[in-house]
Amino acid sequence: MAPIWSPQLFLLYLTIKLSKHMSKNVVIVGAGVAGINAATKLVDNNYEGKITIIDMGKDPYNRLPEEVMTGMLGAGGWSDGKLTYHTSIGGHLSKYCGEEKAMELFDQVINNFKRFHPKPEEVQCSNPVAEPDFIKPYFGLRLFPVWHVGTDYLHEIGKNWYDYLVDNGVEFYWETKVTDIDFDTQELYCDWNTPKETIKYDKLIFGVGKSGIDFGKQLAEKYNLPTEPKPVQIGVRFEAPQKHFQKLIDISYDFKLYRKYEDKGVSLRSFCTNNNAAYVAVEETYGDHSYNGHAKKDESFRNDMTNFGILMEVRGIDKPFEWSRNVVNKLQKDGTGLYYSPSREPSQTSEGVEVSSVKVDTMHHISKAMQPYFWYIVDFIEDMKKVFPTLKDDWGIYVPEVKYLSPEPLVDYTNLALTEYPNVHFVGDALSARGITVSGAQGTYVAEAILEDNKKVRTFKNKTIAV
Ligand SMILES: Cc1cc2nc3c(=O)[nH]c(=O)nc-3n(C[C@H](O)[C@H](O)[C@H](O)COP(=O)(O)OP(=O)(O)OC[C@H]3O[C@@H](n4cnc5c(N)ncnc54)[C@H](O)[C@@H]3O)c2cc1C
Repeated sequence: MAPIWSPQLFLLYLTIKLSKHMSKNVVIVGAGVAGINAATKLVDNNYEGKITIIDMGKDPYNRLPEEVMTGMLGAGGWSDGKLTYHTSIGGHLSKYCGEEKAMELFDQVINNFKRFHPKPEEVQCSNPVAEPDFIKPYFGLRLFPVWHVGTDYLHEIGKNWYDYLVDNGVEFYWETKVTDIDFDTQELYCDWNTPKETIKYDKLIFGVGKSGIDFGKQLAEKYNLPTEPKPVQIGVRFEAPQKHFQKLIDISYDFKLYRKYEDKGVSLRSFCTNNNAAYVAVEETYGDHSYNGHAKKDESFRNDMTNFGILMEVRGIDKPFEWSRNVVNKLQKDGTGLYYSPSREPSQTSEGVEVSSVKVDTMHHISKAMQPYFWYIVDFIEDMKKVFPTLKDDWGIYVPEVKYLSPEPLVDYTNLALTEYPNVHFVGDALSARGITVSGAQGTYVAEAILEDNKKVRTFKNKTIAV
């Protein structure tokens, strides 16, 4: 017999239905910068539901220095700790939420890093203002503020931040790799040695960063997720004694030189400059080595070196992801990347061992692997020699440095949820970020959307009950 619908019965029905859909259980895959900032926003706002974070790396008390990409705060937890403060740097944010909101989200992320910093007064902002004349004939110079946290404090920050989240009821699963996700049944599969139940979610925040790039791709293929097109970003990590660059460093600590070849679809920029205590770091992606950099803050690590990426962005390459992987693979020798210098040897890591690389005598092999693009980089270096006349042959390059821009899934710009799965939110490098501030801000943005969603449901539920 069909039920007799009175208005009260209908509202009761709605209430039950809505209660079921209240976003109680948030599961975050990846304890990286994005995931941790998302959880913090939820906790700070007394989110009622359960918050679970799953990460294949280790908690901050057990994470080792060589575990560069995984564990508490992800790649950001063992990075050079430079928080860029401009919407044109570090990936996409303002395209989703506008300039003003983006800056407000950046502030929240920077405040979190200060809040859990053992010496917050040491977090300082460099804010250069003018482009010097000696650069102008050769390069553009992008100037923007950077908050410097210091690599050596990141572990302490990680511990303080972790304790705060645990004390506020966040549940962590460490050394647990999520191997599959069923978006339809809303459950996660993990690589547990002993069979355990799957983990269910109401809302999923997917923040696996660069170390989870394959996983993101696997899901995109499995669910045939629509994506936005991406260019290739590849180049070298350049290293030289700091004295050659000092007059520019005095103006801008993390300077960004750039130039564009509009007609060729190629642009170049110096990327992520490290000074004073600057170390080249090896990254491992897909089993291949590529390079990045660290800056330590403690004086005891000072080596008076400068390193930065020289990255090319190339548009119009068919299958850019496959192309970059293939080039990176060609640039491997004896299980590691290459080093070329007209006069120097590879330098040492902060642990005192030589940066893993095979020294080559000429740039011939590099040029062949990056065909036809490597000469843009050579040209860039030649012009740096003109701008910084003492540089001459006193430099070296570690090859390759690469930014794998994973295909960006198409998301709802208001909450970064997949267009076809509105309770699955992509954040950080797994979406479109390339840096700490943007990743953290995307996590915060999603958490705000979840809180807002909850508020709406709760208000409506209260109203219906009140009726
Ligand atoms: C050496 C180095 C230096 C850097 N320096 C800077 C810098 O100074 N400034 C800056 O802005 N950016 C820097 N970056 C980039 C920055 O660290 C990243 O952009 C940022 O950390 C991305 O945040 P995320 O949360 O998206 O991912 P991540 O911070 O990378 O975190 C992702 C987390 O997901 C986990 N994970 C991955 N796959 C799975 C899975 N299947 N199951 C469970 N867990 C999984 C990983 O263990 C990791 O902890 C640096 C990167 C590196 C490698």
